[in-house]
Amino acid sequence: MIQAKGYAAQKANDTLAPWAFERREVGPHDVQIEIQYCGVCHSDLAQINNEWFPGIFPMVPGHEIVGRVTKVGSHVTNFKIGDRAGVGTMVNSCGKCEHCEEGLEPYCAEGVSVTYNGIDKFGDGTPGYGGYSNTIVTKDSFVVHIPESLDIAATAPLLCAGITTYSPLKHWKVGKGHKVAVLGLGGLGHMAVKFAVALGAEVTILSTSPKKEADAKRLGAHHFVVTTDAEQAKQVISAFDFIVDTVAAEVDFDFYLSLLKVDGILICVGVPPTGIHVNASFSLIGGRKSIVGSAAGGIAETQEMLNFCAEHNIVADIELIDIKDIHAAYERMLKGDIRYRFVIDMATL
Ligand code: NAP
Ligand code: ZN
Ligand code: ZN
Repeated sequence: MIQAKGYAAQKANDTLAPWAFERREVGPHDVQIEIQYCGVCHSDLAQINNEWFPGIFPMVPGHEIVGRVTKVGSHVTNFKIGDRAGVGTMVNSCGKCEHCEEGLEPYCAEGVSVTYNGIDKFGDGTPGYGGYSNTIVTKDSFVVHIPESLDIAATAPLLCAGITTYSPLKHWKVGKGHKVAVLGLGGLGHMAVKFAVALGAEVTILSTSPKKEADAKRLGAHHFVVTTDAEQAKQVISAFDFIVDTVAAEVDFDFYLSLLKVDGILICVGVPPTGIHVNASFSLIGGRKSIVGSAAGGIAETQEMLNFCAEHNIVADIELIDIKDIHAAYERMLKGDIRYRFVIDMATL
């Protein structure tokens, strides 16, 4: 076994602390990566706190992993030692079902193996440990190449925040001529803005934080609406073809549906622990509107997204942190005080 070290929660709601653990030896189809940076996703905190379902502990969070390949298995042809590599939210799937065959591994009929807080039932049957650690061993087909032109630390968030927003924008063919609103300007939200702008849409940020307005232009957005200001909010009734909801808390869905045009689509990627609720049927029926959801994209699409980022010079806006400051970062994330993704410098481990 390979000796690894990381930060773990030993039980739900625990404070993360240094923890030594083991990773499997590099098998014929495995790639070992020395982790240089790992992004901090709101999902990490939700899972440490058992907000979604009872978690598997000890839990090493982190699914925005980038670094350098240090070892490859004998059958690996796609990676070599020294390559830049990334691992996102998943590490395995059945590989045989119709969804896997289509490259939609997150929707694997057998249930995808997530990077942490899950058991790799298609692999060695052990719990996965995430990227708040110094090294990871992952099946080669779940590792992606990080283009050399991109700043590697700022690329880490693309592995979850990036692909989770890119994938639905592509699936629903968002582009020129569309008016798109992004609800919540955090890790996912700021990536949704960059992608929607790059795809040619007219983009409005819907935010509860007036202080973030100064950043809107720099991020490429065309408009900024403070949703807590009733006058501003009234101006965008029936304004949008799409809203991408990236908020981790329950919001007033009936109100946000009213901001959509007829046939408008509310794309949910945020995961409020209390679920999604629409109170009035007419919020939907009144304008033939849809509420849809989306998980991270498949592996091929993740590579496509990284290549798109290299082409359009897109990375995340990050604040690098020392791993010992992870809880201070979570506190700020909970307050929406984020510009716009914390990334752990793993050299501080
Ligand atoms: P984040 O960085 O904390 O951003 C969330 C943003 O939502 C905040 O910055 C804030 O922006 C806004 N917000 C927070 N509380 C709000 C409230 N009560 N009302 C309105 N707006 C509020 O979080 P993230 O990492 O981007 O993750 C966002 C959500 O996506 C989380 O639920 C996460 O678990 C989920 N997620 C889902 C997937 C998936 O596969 N679908 C993947 C990754 C993450 P403003 O200051 O602009 O209001
Ligand atoms: Zn995530
Ligand atoms: Zn499958």
